[in-house]
Amino acid sequence: MRKNEPIDILRSTFGYKDFRFEQKQIIERILSKQDTLVLMPTGGGKSLCYQIPALLLDGLTIVVSPLISLMKDQVDALRLNGISAAYLNSSMDPGEQSQVIQALKNDEIKLLYLAPERLVGADQRFLSFLQKRNISLLAVDEAHCISQWGHDFRPEYGMLAEVRQQLNVPTVALTATADQLTRDDILVRLRLKDPKVYVSSFNRANIHYQVAPKRGSYSKLLDFLTTRRDESGIIYVLSRASTEELAQKLNEDGHQAVPYHAKLDAATKERHQEMFLRDEVKIVVATIAFGMGINKSNVRYVVHMDVPKNMEGYYQETGRAGRDGLPSNALLFYSYADVMKLQSFVEVEGNQQQSEIMLRKLQEMATFGELRTCRRKYILNYFGEDASDECGSCDVCQTDYQKFDGTTIAQKALSAVARLDERFGITYVIDFLRGSQSEKIWDQHKQLKTYGAGADLSKKDWRRYLDDLLHLDYLRKDDGKFPVLKLTEKSWPVLRGEEKVMLVESISEREEDAQKDVVPLEEELMSRLKTQRLQL
Ligand code: ADP
Ligand code: ZN
Repeated sequence: MRKNEPIDILRSTFGYKDFRFEQKQIIERILSKQDTLVLMPTGGGKSLCYQIPALLLDGLTIVVSPLISLMKDQVDALRLNGISAAYLNSSMDPGEQSQVIQALKNDEIKLLYLAPERLVGADQRFLSFLQKRNISLLAVDEAHCISQWGHDFRPEYGMLAEVRQQLNVPTVALTATADQLTRDDILVRLRLKDPKVYVSSFNRANIHYQVAPKRGSYSKLLDFLTTRRDESGIIYVLSRASTEELAQKLNEDGHQAVPYHAKLDAATKERHQEMFLRDEVKIVVATIAFGMGINKSNVRYVVHMDVPKNMEGYYQETGRAGRDGLPSNALLFYSYADVMKLQSFVEVEGNQQQSEIMLRKLQEMATFGELRTCRRKYILNYFGEDASDECGSCDVCQTDYQKFDGTTIAQKALSAVARLDERFGITYVIDFLRGSQSEKIWDQHKQLKTYGAGADLSKKDWRRYLDDLLHLDYLRKDDGKFPVLKLTEKSWPVLRGEEKVMLVESISEREEDAQKDVVPLEEELMSRLKTQRLQL
């Protein structure tokens, strides 16, 4: 029998009553000194998963974390709970650093937070110093940073496997956002030994997801706010300038709002954040610089005035609503023109592979904005969860769309995929269906029966219907590097004529929004990938 059980620490040190999600199992696993990967939504309570073991194990726990500001918040919070925690990073002067080193030598510290550069930098001395300490656990926070497939790749994370080996300690990696590729990549790159992966459900049942066309967004926002005057909310915008403009406009229209972005001076940032936390102001209009480490439970809504760059960011930001479990809203103003604008922003200079990944993630964000099927299902599937049912509580589920018998359309699409041996992406399948004369279409494909069978529909319509078929699970995209269309078990009854498929009439918002002559994103992306044509 251990002197202290995890539940005792949870209650006495942290003041919480019960574990959430799989915290208990994760903590037990870590205490048994085995490698572990934890996927939990933002606000789920990842930190306790290593903080409680840190207190129960002999020796020191090292926490690798990419953000200096977050480190400080965590350490401050731990100290308030009477835990001896410290951090080392480049923002400290040498005096402060040597104090921490001294405390480490005296074994006075239980949790040490480090930026990855600190461990993997050219200076081996620090690593040798750590090797002489009694280290019980390595926790790698925001572990998706190790993967090129993640949305926030940090090259210095790549060396952590070496560090792990040199320190020879059990490791727990944690992240709030990892699709299947990223998840597999984390395991491989950190070289975890017989890892167990814990995936908590990403469903935030109390959040209502809603997307509205961006046109006229300001007056739509005012409408949205009328019934929410006394509630706290975060409004995200893309640029620093728009945080200030929008906050001012809202104030003129009788809503208290403060701006927040990275370039405000430190005192203003701190003041605005405090005002929001203490409910002295209801609205923060912010860039994505706002929110990390903010722990306010009664945020009732999160609005995106501009389209986020990827689903990871969107989900993290909307996840700041409703941490108290009460009904909350996530409202996104969507326009395809925004998506077009973002293309150049998401590219990573000098890194073609990374750019392609980020462009694909942007495309997946655009798809979310244009969904005609359950948004929650899409989110959960995106994060690798099986969610076969529609939620009934998002805007799409609550809208009565005009549906029609789309069985013939579905059959054409599915048989095209079958005849192309499930080896081609969406753009190719559309061109094939429409009987494109392009030389991109292989000659032998031009002989097939389905070639040109869908010439009566526009590219845009085909894209929409194929997207719908994907989200209704009549098709799936391969998880591999290239999003190839595949059949599913639901495809066969349709192909055999045993099942009817109801589809939503295609009225494209893109038509309103998109300027002429722009190349649709996915096409652009695909043309960059054409060197790998075989796999496409
Ligand atoms: P994240 O998963 O985003 O890193 P945190 O670890 O910061 O989340 O936890 C989010 C909030 O939930 C924190 O305020 C944390 O103290 C609180 N929390 C974590 N676990 C529990 C629990 N079992 N019961 C109540 N609150 C908890
Ligand atoms: Zn739904």
